Order: sequence, then C-alpha cells, then structure tokens
Amino acid sequence: MKFKYLGTAAAEGIPAIYCTCKVCRNARELGKRELRSRSQALVDDELLLDFPCDTYWHVITYGIDLTKIKHILITHSHDDHFYPLDMNYIRKGFAHLPEDFEPVTVYGNQEVGAKLPLDENNFMNPDRRIRFAPVKPFEALQAGSFLITPLPACHGTKDPMIYLLQKGGKSILYAHDTGKIFPEVIRFLKEKGVVLDLISLDCTEADKTINYNSHMNLERNIVCRNEMQDA
Ligand SMILES: [Zn+2]
Ligand SMILES: [Zn+2]
Repeated sequence: MKFKYLGTAAAEGIPAIYCTCKVCRNARELGKRELRSRSQALVDDELLLDFPCDTYWHVITYGIDLTKIKHILITHSHDDHFYPLDMNYIRKGFAHLPEDFEPVTVYGNQEVGAKLPLDENNFMNPDRRIRFAPVKPFEALQAGSFLITPLPACHGTKDPMIYLLQKGGKSILYAHDTGKIFPEVIRFLKEKGVVLDLISLDCTEADKTINYNSHMNLERNIVCRNEMQDA
C-alpha cells in the first residue's frame, strides 16, 4: 500500500490561526515543512482517511483528483477530522462530474452520519453522489480493494474509531485521534494474527504528561509499541 500523509496537525493547525507563540511565529517565517495542516491521509490514491477543512488545501497542493476517490473513512465527528460543508460542493450546480461518476462512500459512526443530509437509503440529498455507510467496532467491511476493520478509539466523542486497513497481504493501523489503545484492540489484533506493517500513532501532546486520556504523547507511544510487541 502507498500511504501518504496530507495533514498531521491537531485541531488548530500550525501555525494556529490566532497564535503568536514561538512555534507559530517560526512556522510563519519558514513556511514549507513547518506548516502543518489538519489530519488526513491518502492510501493508494483510492481511499482517504478523514475529511478535514484542509482537504481543499491538500487537493490543490498535491494535485489530488477527488472524483477518483470512492472511499472516505471518518475517524470521528470533530470538525478537524470531518468537515461536511465541503462535501456539499459535490452537488449539481457546483460540481461538473464525469458522465460515469459513481457515488462516493463515506464510512463513519452515527454522529458522522447525522452531520450529512441523508435520505432514507443513506444517500446524501439531493443528488445521491455521496452514500453513507455506518460502521461498528470490530465489524470488518470491504471498501473497494481494502478490507477495513473499525476499532474503538479512546477520544472525546461518541464511538470514535481507529482503522485497520488490509490489502495485498499488508496491514496498516491508523490511530488518530485516540488516547491509550484499548487492551481489547490489542487482543483483537493478536487473536486475528494481524502483523502490522505500519502503525500511525497519535502524538498530539508530544512530550507532555496529559491528564485526560483522549490523545497520546511520546511516553504513551513507547508503552503502546512495547505492548504491541509483547502481544
Ligand atoms: Zn502557537
Ligand atoms: Zn478529535
């Protein structure tokens, strides 16, 4: 699988919109790799992980043709991971799509679905160009050429997910946003005999000790790696 990070920042991005701290001043001055946009990744030019407001910037910057991406996995309903307003511009009158265009499937929990104007068949009104597929933890589903398993995350929304992606004998665990990985997730991976080729871990709190368990830091990343290696 070809995995490309499009954005890796937390909710406010770097530089943060109003912030004048040293980090943000430095990012404004140096630009380029010091600029970090909201969390999103692209796999095999076919599947997107999350749809933040910076999707627009990513599409322009990396020359992505969104009409070719048929699967969008949403981790949770926070605005920096799911910005459905821009999905509205797929509708007639805004988007001129290829004749053979097939609907895009957006996968997510019920809170994600609630943010989309869906009809009784889970298609987005009025043009049925987006379809919503509700996901449940540990229930695998096929998304094009990918086998996807949503797994429970530890984060401040209802039913947040991290995703196991499998294709062509390779496995990726995409774990943003989440605090400590639940023991049942590690147990599940072990029982299924999943050997992870790539784990992408949340590290929002960097080297700080945090008091709430909704994100990871370096220390928690190391503990997680050791727990997974021991499993
Ligand atoms: Zn700052
Ligand atoms: Zn979040």
